Amino acid sequence: MAVVSEYTDTLLPIRWPDERRSSYDVVIVGGGGHGLSTAYHLATRQGITNVAVLEADYIASGNTGRNTTIIRANYGIPEAIRFYQHSLEMYQRLEDETGAAILHQTKGIVWLAHTEMAMRTERARCLMNTANGAQTFMRTPAELKELIPELDLTGGGRYPVLGGSHHVEGATARHDRVAWAYASGASQRGVDIFQHTPVTGLLRDGDRVVGVETADGPFAAGTVLSAVGGRVTEMTAHAGVRLPVRTHPLHAFVTNDYAQGFSPIVASTELMCYVSQTERGQMLIGAEFDAQPSYSRQSSFAALRSYSYKITRLLPFLRDLRILRTWAGICDISADFSPILGFTGVDGFLVTTGWGTWGFKAIPAGGEAMAELIATGRPPALIAPFALDRFRRDHVLADQGSAGTR
Ligand SMILES: Cc1cc2nc3c(=O)[nH]c(=O)nc-3n(C[C@H](O)[C@H](O)[C@H](O)COP(=O)(O)OP(=O)(O)OC[C@H]3O[C@@H](n4cnc5c(N)ncnc54)[C@H](O)[C@@H]3O)c2cc1C
Repeated sequence: MAVVSEYTDTLLPIRWPDERRSSYDVVIVGGGGHGLSTAYHLATRQGITNVAVLEADYIASGNTGRNTTIIRANYGIPEAIRFYQHSLEMYQRLEDETGAAILHQTKGIVWLAHTEMAMRTERARCLMNTANGAQTFMRTPAELKELIPELDLTGGGRYPVLGGSHHVEGATARHDRVAWAYASGASQRGVDIFQHTPVTGLLRDGDRVVGVETADGPFAAGTVLSAVGGRVTEMTAHAGVRLPVRTHPLHAFVTNDYAQGFSPIVASTELMCYVSQTERGQMLIGAEFDAQPSYSRQSSFAALRSYSYKITRLLPFLRDLRILRTWAGICDISADFSPILGFTGVDGFLVTTGWGTWGFKAIPAGGEAMAELIATGRPPALIAPFALDRFRRDHVLADQGSAGTR
């Protein structure tokens, strides 16, 4: 069995700059997965290395280091399936590309259905997925029981399992390692990453954004990208831009080890709860986000109680485990439950946002596409549908049923 240092040895160091340059081609606000992946892809794919990433706290301290690490492409609309499938495939190659052990594991993910309506939705999902390149297949209750022997097909007598969809390439990866892999890869190529540097305002020259303000002074920039996760409406307010985004907390928790091993990721779209096993053997459980918008990262007993109730109906063995640790992150939920990527209507100021409770899986493809957009000024086809102006054009990408958290 491998020891921990074998994994950490694969993480290359980050070069922390002593001082800032007089100006940058690109300043990225937010050192989460999306900001760091964009910086990495600017350096590796576009040859742009005069880039600064400004992080208010430490890198991956936001949702990138708080999520439940599920990677999947079983979305409900063609635009999203194609985008997330590309990202899922980039994850499969990420260890080879960066040399960093991100502990990527393909496990498959099962979405259980408890009613005829949910069965119809999952059948439609399978057809839509396979037509757009993602591998998702219907499973009978008997097939599910074979895949997940611990599953109670009666759902505790309340939520009978009628069947489910099985997205066979569903995976997990260590979230902080993904952030570190992109950060070290970017910094080795010349990108400056500043931690503990909150951006407090935007510098303007007429109608154009030309940099950012921080407590340590201004950073001049040709382009500013906001990649601030749940803080996006504060950031865009500096530019006078209002986004169709609300901010909601999402909670998760882990139990002590389950020695038997538990392979697939299991979710119920109707009960809004999901579970996977970490590399350490702990059971990692999440559910729907808080209905009340807020910036609170306080864990709540009500959330724990409701998540535990639902998940133990399906997997009774969880009742014998203990909750070890719980936490929350603040999520930027867009009006149509799809991301918002690209231009804001203010020159020099772009956003990558609306990643909500589902943006970890999008980190490779989101960063790659944003880097291309910044370098060329043209949105790549993969993200063109996710532009902010879709709301004005009435071309919303409604896909709430694929979020898995509402
Ligand atoms: C409990 C939970 C479970 C989740 N599970 C999954 C999952 O299983 N699969 C999945 O795909 N997604 C999941 N997500 C969603 C996913 O974590 C996020 O969508 C993703 O991490 C967003 O990445 P980001 O880089 O946009 O934001 P973040 O990782 O939040 O990074 C934004 C960064 O910006 C910084 N920042 C904010 N304001 C400023 C400022 N003014 N100046 C400088 N820096 C600033 C923050 O400190 C932060 O580090 C989950 C989220 C949560 C909370």
